[in-house]
Amino acid sequence: MGVHRGHCHCGALAFEFHTALAPAAWSVRACQCSFCLKHGGVYTSDPAGSVRFTHAMPELLTRYRFGHETADFIFCGRCGGYLGAVTEEDGQKLAVINIHAMDPQPAGLTAAQPMSYDGETSSNRGARRAKRWTPVSGP
Ligand SMILES: [Zn+2]
Repeated sequence: MGVHRGHCHCGALAFEFHTALAPAAWSVRACQCSFCLKHGGVYTSDPAGSVRFTHAMPELLTRYRFGHETADFIFCGRCGGYLGAVTEEDGQKLAVINIHAMDPQPAGLTAAQPMSYDGETSSNRGARRAKRWTPVSGP
């Protein structure tokens, strides 16, 4: 398992992404929704891997919801750094992480694929996330 770390600019919020996949094999997705275009969200996930949040200052964690309000978009309340999104399906927390928050940036990533989920129903959205997003381990 490789461990890839990321954090917000000031270091208050952080994650570890555990995956057996080499970065060249990661799915790299540039969501085209209005939120992700504004924030430059470029995501990866691995349903066979795991994400662990290792926030130094969890009290600075800020959540934002919009649209269907089925996911929390995670920000630092101090520096504004954007870490990714978390949702819950059948009691399991799932995450996608913002590749831009990774430090160092993994080498060999494929070009981001533009993704549009417009018109997706809530149940299709849940099923897609359950299949693609990364299980969150720990609290
Ligand atoms: Zn920060």
